[in-house]
Amino acid sequence: MQKHIMAVCLTWPDGKLTSQAAAWLFNRFPPQNIRFACFGPGVDYARNHIVKRIFLPSNFPKLLMIDNDMRPDARADLIFKAEGDIIGALYDANNPAANADPDVVHLGLVLIRREVFLEIEPPWFEMNYDKEKARIISCECASFCRKAKEKGFKITKAGYCPHTPISRLLRLAPI
Ligand SMILES: [Zn+2]
Repeated sequence: MQKHIMAVCLTWPDGKLTSQAAAWLFNRFPPQNIRFACFGPGVDYARNHIVKRIFLPSNFPKLLMIDNDMRPDARADLIFKAEGDIIGALYDANNPAANADPDVVHLGLVLIRREVFLEIEPPWFEMNYDKEKARIISCECASFCRKAKEKGFKITKAGYCPHTPISRLLRLAPI
């Protein structure tokens, strides 16, 4: 059991998560360590809110964040054994180049030490858009990892987590 880690699952917009994520969480964390956070819209907003409102006011030394569309199994457990301040499980992202940068982990399943949030000035997670704000240039993971690296934190990729991407946007009728 991971007694010293707070585990937060991002469940926006409908409060749901995969059955694999629920089983994985309850088999590895005491129930009092687990939270389900339905903050939205936007994954950057949700992550910042989790850190500010849920994790930092707690006494836990480490935060695990898991997205509602992740399907972890025993292969993901390597994140608990790896060395690093930010340890992210590899998963198949929508963009095939997403895992190419050795200093960026994506945050679908990630373990982060408290010190990282204390050293980096908020907002910790920021999407980068093009100048018309019409297209995302880089995800909130990339900017967070860049800021952490500038502060000297160690970023590690460990383990693997199956994943079925689901849109984080509400599906409305086309314009
Ligand atoms: Zn990302």
